[in-house]
Amino acid sequence: MSNTIKSINPYNQEVIARYTLNKKEEVFSKLEKADEVFKEWSQKDVSERAELLYNIGNILEERLEELSKLITLEMGKPISESKAEIKKCIYLCDFYAKNAEDFLADEIIETDAYESFISYDPLGVVLAVMPWNYPFWQVLRFAVPTLTAGNTALLKHASNVSGCALAIEEIFTEAGYPHGCFQTLLTNHDTIEEIIKDDKIKAVSLTGSEKAGKAIAKAAGENLKKTVLELGGNNACIVLEDADLDKHIDTIVKARMQNAGQSCIAAKRFIVTENIYDNFLEKFTKKVAALKQGDPLNMDTEIATLAREDLATDLQNQVEDAIKKGAKVVLGNRQNKAFFAPTILTNVTKDMAVFTEETFGPVAPIFKVKNLEEALQLATDSRFGLGTMLFTEDTEAAMHAISRIPDGAFFVNEMVKSDPRLPFGGTKASGYGRELSREGIHEFVNIKTVFIN
Ligand code: NAP
Repeated sequence: MSNTIKSINPYNQEVIARYTLNKKEEVFSKLEKADEVFKEWSQKDVSERAELLYNIGNILEERLEELSKLITLEMGKPISESKAEIKKCIYLCDFYAKNAEDFLADEIIETDAYESFISYDPLGVVLAVMPWNYPFWQVLRFAVPTLTAGNTALLKHASNVSGCALAIEEIFTEAGYPHGCFQTLLTNHDTIEEIIKDDKIKAVSLTGSEKAGKAIAKAAGENLKKTVLELGGNNACIVLEDADLDKHIDTIVKARMQNAGQSCIAAKRFIVTENIYDNFLEKFTKKVAALKQGDPLNMDTEIATLAREDLATDLQNQVEDAIKKGAKVVLGNRQNKAFFAPTILTNVTKDMAVFTEETFGPVAPIFKVKNLEEALQLATDSRFGLGTMLFTEDTEAAMHAISRIPDGAFFVNEMVKSDPRLPFGGTKASGYGRELSREGIHEFVNIKTVFIN
């Protein structure tokens, strides 16, 4: 087995850097260090820990250009989106800097005790296994609340974004976090499953595919460790005949095509009622065809390349399956190495992989239905449960639909998106647990009952 990993620019296949994997002893000594520093870090006031978040925000601001470029070079997203990702991380830091003390304050509960309350105590070392699609956001979304709650963290990032992984560790150090609070591990799957067994790891957070979720949850479960799993999605985007298309069509296009479609919460199944179907298809196709394709380092590029060639091949197989079963290609369906052209499919049916599986790229299958009832039946016919979006001017109908949606999120006249102020997470095969907001910072704490008489 090779002891190096490469970062390859997916736009031109150039090797950007080679990284030597940590030896197994190094991984375990980092774990030792994380456990040791926890003793002092966990005893600091929340306010002291939260204050450091402003430093992270400032560093991200100062290094915005350089870090955005690193994201784009390693995983290929348009530079404008990389910048937006870093800016969102800055907002996240600011949000928890301002709210963590409130979220973690003791909560008085009136009982027959002289005094009783809930105390939110940190757990210890938390391991994070993270994906490449938002290489800064996914990590900080986990690390910012988890560290501020008093835990320490080890990161196993996706192996195509090691540059980002190391840059994030450097930022925590530069921001003044004690050495060992946040460390990156460059290692393989076996070693990760091995360290999960170690008593010093108290919990694991994974964002990634269903397959990875099952492997990590199995290793953690066998050792009675808590997990938070943020897995794949197959979000439906329902468009009803009274939807204001002129107002929302750009949002609907972005909901699928942002990050070249490589987002867990992207719209992956478009379900459109018959009275608006032709109008929708025309407007949607026109907008998608007009997306500026090109070099991801150009500020005006809107869609560039997928993060790896194998991802484009997987997507091609899903599209081929649909075509074989009768789908019509309205636009796109061209693959060249890691590049996949924005693609629109009609005449799609429930037996196709583009309906049953997650499509992690710019492919939009469009289903025609009679009415909202039929739309809801199709939308909820999924193993996944990250989110559903509904475009309609009928607020009452939307309100009635809320209880029919078994997902972690329901967005009306807006794409499903994450926001530090709101909880984020899924149901069913999309995982469990929540990130962000008050709920997110409470995932990796000991919710301790204190009863004093
Ligand atoms: P992936 O292949 O599952 O990889 C995710 C991470 O898990 C990587 O760091 C990977 O390491 C690691 N990993 C996989 N199997 C492992 C194992 N047995 N032991 C230890 N580590 C393991 O997913 P991806 O292709 O990077 O990301 C795409 C998937 O993530 C999609 O399904 C997407 O929907 C999902 N996602 C979900 C959310 C959410 O919030 N729900 C957000 C973003 C992405 P290597 O790179 O070394 O293989």
